Amino acid sequence: MEAEQTGRGGVTYRLRDWLISRQRYWGTPIPIVYCAACGIVPVPEDQLPILLPDDVDFRPTGESPLKFHEAFRHTTCPQCGAPAEREIDTMDTFVDSSWYQYRFLSPHYDQGPFDPAEKKWLPVDQYTGGAEHAVMHLLYARFWTKVMRDMGLVDFDEPFPRLYSQGVILGPDGQKMSKSRGNVVEPDPLVDKYGADTVRGYLMFIGPWNEGGPFSMDGIEGIRRFLHRVWDMVLEPPKVDPDAVPAEDEVHRARQRLHQTIAKVTEDLSTFSFNTAIAALMQLSNEMRAWKQTGIVNHAVWQESVLTFLKLLAPFTPHIAEELWARLGQPYSVHTQPWPTWDPELAREETFELVIQVNGRVRDRVRVPADITEEEARELALRRERVQRFLDGKSPRRVIYVPGRLINIVV
Ligand SMILES: [Zn+2]
Repeated sequence: MEAEQTGRGGVTYRLRDWLISRQRYWGTPIPIVYCAACGIVPVPEDQLPILLPDDVDFRPTGESPLKFHEAFRHTTCPQCGAPAEREIDTMDTFVDSSWYQYRFLSPHYDQGPFDPAEKKWLPVDQYTGGAEHAVMHLLYARFWTKVMRDMGLVDFDEPFPRLYSQGVILGPDGQKMSKSRGNVVEPDPLVDKYGADTVRGYLMFIGPWNEGGPFSMDGIEGIRRFLHRVWDMVLEPPKVDPDAVPAEDEVHRARQRLHQTIAKVTEDLSTFSFNTAIAALMQLSNEMRAWKQTGIVNHAVWQESVLTFLKLLAPFTPHIAEELWARLGQPYSVHTQPWPTWDPELAREETFELVIQVNGRVRDRVRVPADITEEEARELALRRERVQRFLDGKSPRRVIYVPGRLINIVV
């Protein structure tokens, strides 16, 4: 008895009947002919597709211009050959957007809606669009795919296994951009002023991709300066004695930082974490500019680092990456190079900077081995002179340790 009363979860799609006809020109013609004798007659497949006439007369009557196009409207009945009229409504554009991703795979294929050989690309890995599409376009597209599945055209249930919506770029005042607020930032003048790479790089750097954030002129200037520094780093001749030889551990550290950056950028790209990928490239370029003042610039690791850096930069700022790649005499194009790989053993961090807090305030920092234990970190922190000054002879009440990051001594 009890079991029968137990409820269970279910999904309600709220899918309603879909009236697909529109009294508009822009849309796919509905392949139906009205015959006085035969009634409603579907146009036979060998006469499809019906194309829109391209010489319609748009009149401000609120009616479809197809209604006034005599040659389109008047036809013959496919069944009896008598004069007949075409349907002049067209299909809702959601009909097209429900399945264009299939057609795009083989736009010239004429044996069906799409070439079955191209199924290997399906389903689409990720749908990117505003969250508002979840109840409109996505619902239509999902419904359409389920029909295609039932017809045996595809062998999956969902057209887009993953939905990941981008955030909204806000005005400089942190409010949604709107004409009435006067906080709209137009991209085109920015591209004219800074170039497409800077604007594009900035939009990816502005914040977490799925969150967006307020637009900032300082921020875009920061990307501009970064790209200028990269330009100089790659092209300016080094001012180091050409015979200077780097120490072995310097070379090792350089290669390690390079491999760590390859790993970071690769992983961030796969999770759409473009802002942190660019931050990692900024950090590496800062370090590389320091290397350029040393004998590293005379070692093979320098060339390896510069070329790898450009490959990592290429998805974010494609034009400057290609230009620098070409100026280094590399074969066209940087965008068709194999993506760099990394050695996980080499990329593994051997040390980290332990932040030492006393009562929640940062008082000291020290580089420690990556495998330091809590006990060792605690002893080390308590021995530090700056920490002892704040302890003032008192013994800690509590020590909070966050592995790999910080230790907080509460007195
Ligand atoms: Zn007929």
